[in-house]
Amino acid sequence: MTESKHSTLRSPAVPMIDLERQYAPLRQELMEALGHVIDRRQFILGEPVAQFEAAAARHLGVHATIGCSSGTDALWLALAACGIGPGDAVITTPFSFFASVSAILRAGARPLLADIDPASFHLSPSAVAQVLQHSSHAASVRALLPVHLYGQCVDWEGFAELARKHNLLLIEDAAQAWGARHHGIHAGGLGDMAAFSFYPTKNLSAAGDAGLVSTQQEKLAERARALRQHGMRVRYHHDEVGWNARMDGFQGAILHVKLRYIEQWNDARRSAAARYHQLFQNAGLAESGPYPGQGVVLPQEEAGNFHVWHQYVIRTARRDALRSFLATREIGSEVYYPIPLHLQKALTTLGYGEGSFPESERAAREVLALPIFPEITVEEQQTVVDAIAEFLSSPDR
Ligand SMILES: *Cc1c(COP(=O)(O)O)cnc(C)c1O
Repeated sequence: MTESKHSTLRSPAVPMIDLERQYAPLRQELMEALGHVIDRRQFILGEPVAQFEAAAARHLGVHATIGCSSGTDALWLALAACGIGPGDAVITTPFSFFASVSAILRAGARPLLADIDPASFHLSPSAVAQVLQHSSHAASVRALLPVHLYGQCVDWEGFAELARKHNLLLIEDAAQAWGARHHGIHAGGLGDMAAFSFYPTKNLSAAGDAGLVSTQQEKLAERARALRQHGMRVRYHHDEVGWNARMDGFQGAILHVKLRYIEQWNDARRSAAARYHQLFQNAGLAESGPYPGQGVVLPQEEAGNFHVWHQYVIRTARRDALRSFLATREIGSEVYYPIPLHLQKALTTLGYGEGSFPESERAAREVLALPIFPEITVEEQQTVVDAIAEFLSSPDR
């Protein structure tokens, strides 16, 4: 804090995210909650985490939640609690954060990938159906792991149908989707289990690493609770090999406070997304996708979804040049994600290569996330859209 106060660095014209605007009004409330943890010395799990877990379960409308150390650990915990391990395969998307795949490997299982839908960027149920039909590992598939990317739920009916037909478990990577709904059901309440991340830039965020697993099934909840502390149900009696994946008390206390504001913050993100839409329309830049021409393809909220706009991601043909141009205007932007997972060095052993998933590869070249956070102002959004309009108006830039 002191550092930034005395820093001579100016803040950018429009930052990608500005956590100072979120924390400043909450400072007193958060300090009191942290003081409470110190007074009771409940540094690991304990009451602050239990209270957050109960409030989180109520908010999501699920039977139980299990707080843990990160979103990555939440994915691993969900897989492990479902009994997925060596000999099993899990199908997920190559267009996600690395942990969606690495957690499957960490559980000892084999990740199988299927391509995305170019309009939603989500794992495509029909591409998954192809894998279930043609992969030599199809018989060992135990679960599907779709990712509610950018804050919007996947085509759930498509996955539910595949799961019924092939007797598969459904695990949601809901790391970017706290508060998102699909036909009124919260992300986290759709599948057998779901994993959330509270990494500081997520919609609902901790002041450090933290994550959470949710489920409607007590048996799975009970097993996840044991697995997050070395498979221990009775102190120092280890029933199976778990891991240390506990949430700490400070994070539980902070999250419990912030949970009270998440609906209001998500509503503000929805208003900001609607404003971007309007501004791009007004500027005559909006194109109907899925692929970009001279303008930008805007992200859409699909029917039945309540999108929480973790990111506002446009598609544009000269993405890298636009990004550099925005940087010269001190406008933040980001690429989620520049390298699809099947082309990551660490995952070459999965046996895929260039051309394996053309939609994911194309999306990785064309997506650009623009600044969005609950406190972003109309003026800031106008600055972003004006700069993009200026860039697109000169085709040789
Ligand atoms: C952030 C994120 C994760 C990992 O969460 P951590 O808390 O950083 O471990 C997993 N999957 C997706 C889609 C994410 O965005």
